Amino acid sequence: MATMTEAEGVGLAAPQVGVSKRVILARLDKETVLPVINPEITQRSAEAVVAVEGCLSIPGFQADVERSLTITLKGQDADGNRIEMDLSEFPARVVQHEVDHLDGKLYIDQFVPETLSAISYEDDEETGEEQVVLTPVTLEELRSCFAKATRVPTATR
Ligand SMILES: [Zn+2]
Repeated sequence: MATMTEAEGVGLAAPQVGVSKRVILARLDKETVLPVINPEITQRSAEAVVAVEGCLSIPGFQADVERSLTITLKGQDADGNRIEMDLSEFPARVVQHEVDHLDGKLYIDQFVPETLSAISYEDDEETGEEQVVLTPVTLEELRSCFAKATRVPTATR
């Protein structure tokens, strides 16, 4: 939970923090973060929407991803009680993203072509305000970026 709040994430799946259990934390709205054990998406609407996503596992990048507009989520809450809920829009997107993590899938496996971008920040020369700069990248460029990052700790081990 602390990991997610600190990184301003909207959801988290257990494998991301080294826990191999089927548990997700999904932000439903500003006040509510729902832990779901053994989450299962039992229905997905054919109607889909495209929106930008980032991921705590791939910091510094984003892409547009198409997801079902509404889903039915089943699972158990933190007390082990069975839950079933219909979600749409943002919470539905968060849950689909997190359940994908449990199945080893990331948004880079399914993004809208040519929307993958590296995020950087630059001060506007006139106003001095920090601005977000998006630089289009290919999946290969993204992969090589993380290959370099993981090679460093391996070499010093
Ligand atoms: Zn993620």
